[in-house]
Amino acid sequence: MRAARMHGYNQPLVLEEVPTPEIAPNEVLLRVEAAGMCRTDVQMIDGYFKDYLPLPFPATPGHEIAGSIEAIGNAVPASTNLAVGDLVVVAGAWGDGTCRQCRVGDEQICAHGKWPGFSEYGGYGEFVPVPFRYLIKVDRKYNLTAEELAPLTDAGLTPYRGIKKLRQAGVLGPDRVLGVLGVGGLGVYAVQYAKLLSSGAQVVAFGRSDEKLAIAKENGADHVINTRDRSIADIRGELSKATGHTEIDAAIDCVGAEDYIQMGFNLLATAGAFASVGLVGTRINIPLFPFVAREFTYHGSFWGNYSDLSEVIAFAQSGKIKHTVKHVPFEEINENLELLRAGDIVGRAVVTFGTATDRSDRKEIAKDATAS
Ligand SMILES: [Zn+2]
Repeated sequence: MRAARMHGYNQPLVLEEVPTPEIAPNEVLLRVEAAGMCRTDVQMIDGYFKDYLPLPFPATPGHEIAGSIEAIGNAVPASTNLAVGDLVVVAGAWGDGTCRQCRVGDEQICAHGKWPGFSEYGGYGEFVPVPFRYLIKVDRKYNLTAEELAPLTDAGLTPYRGIKKLRQAGVLGPDRVLGVLGVGGLGVYAVQYAKLLSSGAQVVAFGRSDEKLAIAKENGADHVINTRDRSIADIRGELSKATGHTEIDAAIDCVGAEDYIQMGFNLLATAGAFASVGLVGTRINIPLFPFVAREFTYHGSFWGNYSDLSEVIAFAQSGKIKHTVKHVPFEEINENLELLRAGDIVGRAVVTFGTATDRSDRKEIAKDATAS
């Protein structure tokens, strides 16, 4: 099979022929039809996670995976109803199954977990062995494509969990404002969940690219604010003009840059809640006194569990999610990793292996946007 693999940090992926993986009795062999390209892949190549998660080389990136079942191990229970040819997505966090987090279903925060795309096999290769418990079947009658589905397993999942935490914090409602910070790969989904989960709150997207903000608007944001080279006072003024509020009750940060987190807390209302899902920076640096005296709540929120993903797929099947996908042929992975590094991908770039008929002119990916 073809695979794009890391043989070390800080070097381009090597596109090569490698043996097709064998499967264990409890596994399914998945033919990857689409793999989302995540900023995490760039960070992994750059060594960002080196100290937390040392990689065994060669490693195959790609943790946003959708595809079809090629083969089924003989210990996969019939009750799963999985069959060869089924369209499936992969819940990417595989815990040890024994710890407290795994017992309550949060395998993505298991301390002994493993993830496809951070080890030998990943979505940048044509086949991946997957334990049957981590597959979610998508009925073909919904006409969802693998390119649309793959990003839902991370970009389209992570902000969903974050916004659920804000909802649980009780800061969403008709007289409230929810800010979505960043309108990149995660943000374009975040604005949609913001509308779906926020019980009538006004949703404001903050970003630095008019082109990306236009997509956020199209995807349901009530207002968008371009923050490039603007002072907090300016931004606050625009927020007030747009919403009638000078502060936001809740924020989901899809960026993670130090200055964007600072901006978010600067705009946060008393007793507001903030959820961080973005990981672009490395430190959080916010003033302590307002944090305490105004009773802010800060949630870390990491990826999503199997149930979160099932809910996202249910939204997709009912046609409630808009997809903005850029189609990337396998041969062009490295060039597109560079675009991703520069922030020049609009929506989600998705790798395909060109096994189906020419996909470039399909309606579903007509929104495929060119690099800015
Ligand atoms: Zn565990």
